Amino acid sequence: NSSSSGSKASQSPSPSAAGSSQPASTTSTSIADSEKKDEGFIQSILDSNPYFSAGFGLMAVGAVLTIIRKGAVSGASVLRRQLLVTLEIPSKDKSYLWFLHWMSSQSRGAGSAVSPGVSGAGQVPSLNHRGGGGLFTRLTDRLAHKVNQRSQFLAVQTEFKQHDNGSVSTRFNLVPGNGKHLIRYRGAWIQVERTRDAKMMDLSTGAPWETVTLTTLSRDRTVFTELLKEAQKMALMNQEGKTVIYTSWGPEWRPFGQPRKRRVLESVILDDGIAERVVRDVKEFVKNEKWMFAIGMTGIPYRRGYLLYGPPGSGKTSFIQALAGELEYNICILNLSERGLTNDRLNHLLTNLPERSIMLLEDIDAAFMKRDKSQEGFQSMVTFSGLLNALDGVASAEGRIIFMTTNHIELLDPALIRPGRVDLREYVGDATPTQIRRMFKRFYEGQEAMADKFVKLLEGYKVSTAALQGHFVHFKDRPEDACANVEYLFMKDRVD
Ligand code: ADP
Repeated sequence: NSSSSGSKASQSPSPSAAGSSQPASTTSTSIADSEKKDEGFIQSILDSNPYFSAGFGLMAVGAVLTIIRKGAVSGASVLRRQLLVTLEIPSKDKSYLWFLHWMSSQSRGAGSAVSPGVSGAGQVPSLNHRGGGGLFTRLTDRLAHKVNQRSQFLAVQTEFKQHDNGSVSTRFNLVPGNGKHLIRYRGAWIQVERTRDAKMMDLSTGAPWETVTLTTLSRDRTVFTELLKEAQKMALMNQEGKTVIYTSWGPEWRPFGQPRKRRVLESVILDDGIAERVVRDVKEFVKNEKWMFAIGMTGIPYRRGYLLYGPPGSGKTSFIQALAGELEYNICILNLSERGLTNDRLNHLLTNLPERSIMLLEDIDAAFMKRDKSQEGFQSMVTFSGLLNALDGVASAEGRIIFMTTNHIELLDPALIRPGRVDLREYVGDATPTQIRRMFKRFYEGQEAMADKFVKLLEGYKVSTAALQGHFVHFKDRPEDACANVEYLFMKDRVD
């Protein structure tokens, strides 16, 4: 059938010759004859028409090339699937920042990102690796060294830190920027690609959506787990013995700068009894919390509110930081007049605090004062009732310690500071004679007589502990000068 239709098609070079006019009784010999004739006919057309033959030739080459290309592409993707393994870390994931820091620490020392010693506890000791490695290993190491030294795209992360004594230090961390990087880790090559999606945004933070994609050979897939573990360990080690300060980032909490060395309670000098009362209360709360959860009383809002009020620079924030250090807690700081803060966000933030952290609402009065003055310049959308709701609704897997500070307790609505919302309040004021003496002795050890003199000189004057600290730092190791220049404490626009 196919031969007859084939012949039919080939038999009809011109429409007039086509048709069913072929006698039905045609013998097989005549079919074969006619096919031969046809072939000869097509051949003659092809031979006689150079365009035709060239066209067919090109078509054939094109088709073959397409097949090869398709084959190569699908072959490559099959190979890729078989040989390579890819890990994607989106910026939303916790391990994203851990990984970036891990990588930046790898590239700090020249070539360190690629030396086998990177692994620290790697299975392949670096000396063995280098010494015993063959030519290939040495070559790849050298190549990796080069790649790393150039480490093409770096991004800077600036850390700004204000120390307790008021001085400031800045550190620049170089983290891998957008683009591709090649690293060697525990003998495995890993391609690191950091990409930023121009269209997608992390809706919760408003930041562009970023991803880090790690690709390595399938046989080395276990290095991913090891690498992430190491990055996590590094991040946690960095926090050990330190206090992490979190600030809000959209509706999320993000660490603010590097974790700070824990501040010891004794470094904040409050008037007699204040620190002791607060510390006792908080410790009692934490103890009760453990007991409550041990007996299965979970799911009820369990929290304790504290209010520290008094003039600025009296050590309220510093004390809360030191308290967090004492409890081995972290701190989440939120300013209610923060731009873009809404009731919903506030609620979300308060119910999603990181584990073991103290919530600190700073200058609680400021947010609502602004509104009274004028709507202009008012950026936070938190309403007073929104704040109360958020405070009352704080329910979580663990108890919540909420600290509030204000310079103007008289401006606070009584509803905000009634028991249940504020369970303990303490006035933290300007320096009292006891505080002045203790601070003096802390800065100038053993200078009893001089301390008495200094206290006398300040009798009847109001001075903040922050100003005192500044004074003592200025006259470091010079107690006599600190006494001789007390008027410095009251010269606001002093130029040193
Ligand atoms: P506040 O929160 O009351 O405005 P801060 O805690 O921010 O005050 O203090 C500002 C600076 O002054 C900090 O560097 C802190 O170390 C120092 N300071 C203030 N009060 C004290 C204090 N009582 N003891 C030790 N340092 C203090």
